[in-house]
Amino acid sequence: MKVNQSKTIGRREFLKISGLTTVGILSGFARIEASTPTADLVLVNGKIITVDPADSIARAVAIKTGRILAVGENEMISKYIGRDSKVMDLRGKTVTPGLIDSHAHLPFFGLRENGWFLKLQGVEPKDQVLEMLAQRARKTPKGEWISAWGVESMSLSYLNKDDLDRVTTQHPMLVVHTGGQWGFANSYALKIAGIDKNTANPAGSKVQKSSVDSEPTGLLIHYPALDLVRRHMPVPDHEQAKDALLFATQLYAAEGVTTVHDNFFRLGSPHFDKAYFELAQSGKMPVMIKLWPYMANSKVASNVSHVLFESKASHPESKIKELIRYNRENPELFSSLWGGFKMAVDGGGPPGHWYRNPGVFLHSTDELQKMFKLFHRTGHQVSIHAVGDKAVDLILDAIEAGLKEFPRKDHRHRIEHALSPQTNSLKRMKRLGVLVSTHPQWLYAWGDKWTGLKRRENYFGVIPLRSYLKSGIPLALGADPPAFPAYQPQLALSEAVTRVTRGGYRFDPAESLSIQEALRLQTMGSAYAGFQENEMGSIEKGKLANMVVWSRDLYTIPPAEIRDVKAELTLLKGKIVYKSNSSSLS
Ligand SMILES: [Zn+2]
Repeated sequence: MKVNQSKTIGRREFLKISGLTTVGILSGFARIEASTPTADLVLVNGKIITVDPADSIARAVAIKTGRILAVGENEMISKYIGRDSKVMDLRGKTVTPGLIDSHAHLPFFGLRENGWFLKLQGVEPKDQVLEMLAQRARKTPKGEWISAWGVESMSLSYLNKDDLDRVTTQHPMLVVHTGGQWGFANSYALKIAGIDKNTANPAGSKVQKSSVDSEPTGLLIHYPALDLVRRHMPVPDHEQAKDALLFATQLYAAEGVTTVHDNFFRLGSPHFDKAYFELAQSGKMPVMIKLWPYMANSKVASNVSHVLFESKASHPESKIKELIRYNRENPELFSSLWGGFKMAVDGGGPPGHWYRNPGVFLHSTDELQKMFKLFHRTGHQVSIHAVGDKAVDLILDAIEAGLKEFPRKDHRHRIEHALSPQTNSLKRMKRLGVLVSTHPQWLYAWGDKWTGLKRRENYFGVIPLRSYLKSGIPLALGADPPAFPAYQPQLALSEAVTRVTRGGYRFDPAESLSIQEALRLQTMGSAYAGFQENEMGSIEKGKLANMVVWSRDLYTIPPAEIRDVKAELTLLKGKIVYKSNSSSLS
């Protein structure tokens, strides 16, 4: 990946290659030049998929001070070319708005990609996973932690402390499921955390004990249980946190993504809030960010709400002091980064809370309603994780109760995932104005495990995109790395159309979308889910010049090939933030 300035062409050269009548254009030029603004950058001779309300296709776009000045045909746009304008000949390449990922966890994603965590995704046989852990142990000094991310098995008995003790008794080790909500610790780690047969389950979670001797098995379900171990693990320092974040955003920019919603990070730990704000202030990040920090329980929620938004001057909750400072010193930056609050009620895999299969529910329904109301009442957007169908309904109960007490229009509260909700739940989502942030790419990687979630009575099946749209529910698309192995949005676009699993099974073809619909969700849909639809999501006059030049035409190639399309050039606010080495643009 390299970031540089593309070679550009002058006005005269552009007029020549675009085949326009030089005399006519130049005389027209001269006539309007005085009153017509001059573009900084003009893209010409492209297939510009605007994703405007009519899904118009244009040929050229003019950009000034980071915003779109005009979109249209070459001739019309040529009037914005002045002496200092840079003109880029796209030679027929396809351009779309910059893609928007509505659900990612950039700190953890960056740490997975840079090797802080040992990445296990893509390797499912247990002996291979154990061998990878053993290799890591051989390279790790005794006594240091081994931290692995990405068990893809859905079995809670996939590993236990004995398996991990056979790998090493010299290193404390935590091996986390792909979703990040449950995992396995070895005996060394359990000892450091003080977890033994007398350890009670922290609220909303479970420390599994053996039925034979009541000793912990190593399985820890949900954040409060995992945190018993995690609080003893090393965390990145400030520079490492910034590096991980920057790396994650660079990876995204190289795939044509220009905005990412970080839908879970922990305030104050390990310094990622500070890293985010510093990087945003420095202008170094190649994507725009929206933040939904995670609220673990009603106490944290109440503290954060009071301190950050209700001007309570002093509070012992020092973990968020950096945010308080940024909110006071730079309210504009703060509000541009602030998305809302993230909550969670269940987990992925077996801890998902289903009617037919109750999992581990993080909060009492009372606490859930209390936390939701706190943020809803104060005008914030709330985004809540729910995988299971019952978890979805409990969230809808909380939203309904909150709206009854404090009616509010256009709140755009979001449910993240909603893997296979009941048919009736979709009706309630529509009635309550709730959005769903979903992930078609999950069908590819995990669809073969979901045969029990096929369309049946009272259910549309899994990730029911067409039914959501028919029901009038706004959708946003996000990849959810590192919970999901891949982050490339091309896979989401491809899967929204094909719905083919890795094993070749076509999952509920009736729920397929067209590529036009899928692209709209990954741009305007995700923008809407962050209250950003007036700023981005389409190539229209006045919006930010966030756009991507692609290696192939997304609208005309076979949908199965969309996953392999490459971003050649990514523009953020009119600046080139990524250019591929293989790009033929010059
Ligand atoms: Zn997630």
